[in-house]
Amino acid sequence: MSTPADSSNLMEALVSLAKRRGFIYASSEIYGGLNGFFDYGPLGVELKRNIRDAWWRDMVHRRDDVVGIETSIIMHPKVWEASGHVAGFSDPLVDCKASKQRYRADQLFWSPVVVDGKTVSYVSALESEKTTEDLQAAAESFKRKKAIVGTLAPVVAKDFTEASVEEIPLIPSPATGEPGSLTAPRAFNMMFQTNVGAMTDASSVAYLRPETAQGMFVDFKNVIDTTRVKLPFGIAQIGKSFRNEITPRNFIFRSREFEQMEMEYFIHEDADWATCHEEWITWCENWLKSIGLPESHLSRYAHPKEKLAFYSRGTVDIMFKYPFGVQELWGIAARGNYDLTQHANASGKPQEMFDETTKKKFVPHVIEPAVGTDRIFLAVLASAYAEEDVTDEKGNVEKRTVLRLSPRIAPVKVAVLPLLKNKEALTNRAKALYTKLKRNYAVQYDDGGAIGKRYRRQDEAGTPWCVTIDFDTIEKEGDTFTLRERDSMSQKRVTEAGLFALLAEHVY
Ligand code: ATP
Repeated sequence: MSTPADSSNLMEALVSLAKRRGFIYASSEIYGGLNGFFDYGPLGVELKRNIRDAWWRDMVHRRDDVVGIETSIIMHPKVWEASGHVAGFSDPLVDCKASKQRYRADQLFWSPVVVDGKTVSYVSALESEKTTEDLQAAAESFKRKKAIVGTLAPVVAKDFTEASVEEIPLIPSPATGEPGSLTAPRAFNMMFQTNVGAMTDASSVAYLRPETAQGMFVDFKNVIDTTRVKLPFGIAQIGKSFRNEITPRNFIFRSREFEQMEMEYFIHEDADWATCHEEWITWCENWLKSIGLPESHLSRYAHPKEKLAFYSRGTVDIMFKYPFGVQELWGIAARGNYDLTQHANASGKPQEMFDETTKKKFVPHVIEPAVGTDRIFLAVLASAYAEEDVTDEKGNVEKRTVLRLSPRIAPVKVAVLPLLKNKEALTNRAKALYTKLKRNYAVQYDDGGAIGKRYRRQDEAGTPWCVTIDFDTIEKEGDTFTLRERDSMSQKRVTEAGLFALLAEHVY
């Protein structure tokens, strides 16, 4: 088996497949696109919906302790004051005055160029998988060009937030290569603002939500008053969030409009939060494996205690090995009772529960697994994509592109292929099977072109199975079809009942 040689090729291959086969398009493409916004095409929308539905089934339907809600995208502006987003939901922004480019300071790296113990200049590079190598290469190139003699010290990569007031004017802009044009970092609030109603003054300012989580906190009382939930229990929500990211990048990994799947798991203030936290991290890892992400690509990153918000007891990110490096996929945070307390104070409405044993009121604590559907989508595509050389019956070698998607989330579960399109006996049987399968599953009917070509089309779309209605189906006893399996390309005969049993086992 062969996959594209290196990671940048893989990203290119993914973006190209996504466009070619209708998984993802740039938003408003005929107008040149809009940076940080994307559209999902016919195959993409199915894949995304399947990821979302699998999460909802496992998180809400298949658990007795989690209920779902759907809250509005625009909430009362006081929500975002109480949550701390108005004051603190910002990234450090750096402007290059010469090129008008903007950078996130924590993604812009620099180093002094030190020769024989003396700083002779500075170099900069944008964060990538090989930031240090890029800085080293820039330092070597500078020394060569200026014909400086002496021993060059290895570069020490620091991000721009670590640059002193004296160093900032000396660091070259990545856009121009010249120093003097980068500004000091300033806080840039990432919430999109809008106005509610006809007035556009300060009193009408509202925000597009930057996370779905606050909906669960604000509706906490509603849920406990209207359902029979008992601690510990969770409230889950799936929906769009918006962040005016300074540098949206890596395709759908970091966009400005994205979907989140979040759950707030409320526990007693005296509960063993660490064990509960660990259980949720494991749950999330297992869930990712259940939709086909390889264990080898998953890892954990525990945020260092000193970098946590004061209220946070611990945060662990499940990381994924994307083509552009290991990055956060799913954050699982133990947030104490910060959010409920903030909303209780800001609204004047207590957010408490009553402990029957101690006869005391308390504010529950929370464990929050928060993940982006689009980030899962990209992880799924990246790990499912393969290119291979295959030999046909005539001995010809050809390339096939295949998406090895789990049947749980594959956009199309089965393709029904009549061997010939002009033989009624074949097409009638094929259409009857197609109609029956359609009631429960996303299936495709394809009678166009040679059978090998049709298999390749389905391989690229990630369809796990193709069934061919051939002459054996109509001429031999038993009403069997050829079942062709995507990954092994093996073929065997199967009955209709056998096909439904296979689907019931793998599509859950
Ligand atoms: P990052 O550090 O990558 O910006 P974050 O720590 O700010 O992410 P959270 O606020 O914890 O992210 O959001 C929870 C999840 O939402 C993330 O783990 C990620 O899967 C998803 N997410 C956050 N920002 C974006 C974005 N701009 N585009 C796509 N998904 C996102």
